[in-house]
Amino acid sequence: MKKIFALLMIFISAILVGCGGSPQSKIEQYAQSVNNGSSEKSDVDSDDEESTSSANQKTDVKGDLMIKMLNVGQGDAILIQTKTQNILIDASDTDERDKLIAELNKANIKKIDKMILTHPHADHIGGAKTVMDKYEVGEVYDNGCDRGKFAVYKGYINAAQKKNVPVKHLKAGDKLNFGNKVSFEVFYPTEELRKKFEEANDYNNNSIVGKLTYGDFSMLFTGDAEKAAENEILNSKYNKKLKSTILKAPHHGSKSSAGADYMKLVSPEVVLISAGDPSDPTGSGNSYGHPHNAALNSYIKSGGVNKNNIFWTFENGTITVVTDGKSYSVQPEKNSKWINNWLKKNK
Ligand SMILES: [Zn+2]
Repeated sequence: MKKIFALLMIFISAILVGCGGSPQSKIEQYAQSVNNGSSEKSDVDSDDEESTSSANQKTDVKGDLMIKMLNVGQGDAILIQTKTQNILIDASDTDERDKLIAELNKANIKKIDKMILTHPHADHIGGAKTVMDKYEVGEVYDNGCDRGKFAVYKGYINAAQKKNVPVKHLKAGDKLNFGNKVSFEVFYPTEELRKKFEEANDYNNNSIVGKLTYGDFSMLFTGDAEKAAENEILNSKYNKKLKSTILKAPHHGSKSSAGADYMKLVSPEVVLISAGDPSDPTGSGNSYGHPHNAALNSYIKSGGVNKNNIFWTFENGTITVVTDGKSYSVQPEKNSKWINNWLKKNK
């Protein structure tokens, strides 16, 4: 399966360079067709289906689920499009909102059915107000932290109130229906742990962690959850459900996340990292040096991930995953050999 991926990269390079055609064109068509889809009720899904088998990574998947890790700099913003809904997980930073809007417009988005905000740090919710202002938004979900504590909360809460958009809390055990048999189950935090970490002002470890499942395909979304949150999940009943086809790298590829035991259970085939320029020329971007070598090594050594299946928005641009629930493809905007240099440079 992982060998097939190398072929995919060659295949994509060939069509980009050789034929003038772009693999994106199919995706854009797809995006246009789902944008006109009607919004479904977002009732909590009562199904408790859990797939244990792996999806197959292939070259030419015409799927009806598309996931885009948007290239928005240091923050997070992930667009999920099913046949009937558009879902945005996190809304990038305040000073990255122009990039976010450009990416959403490029995907021809008219409506966001659900906006999930993993935790109240600016690099995840900074653009939420702008999204509320510019698009029709069906519902907003956050982790239930005290909204009075953060100025950046007020922007989207006020916008939601003005437009009568419900803002709900997500906690471990909740399930959302993303439409067309795509489900999202929240693993973390429980109400109790959310309060505990909030009292300690540890907001990364309050991040909503949840798994999207569509047939044999799955993706684990992690916000900025660090090892403390990972250990809580390892000690919960959700440890049996961690295995996922794709992992959204926790905390932008920081070494504070992706502990060995956690990675062994997630055991993903692909890791997607959202982080900006580590040289940080503007002084406001990725001054943390993400992704960290220790995290990359944990994905590879503990998670069993092939290094060529690790993608980073700064190097690869927006990364698009397409799946039909059986097989899937990963299409980076740009090919890059960054992983080899990065592993050598940052020992
Ligand atoms: Zn973050």
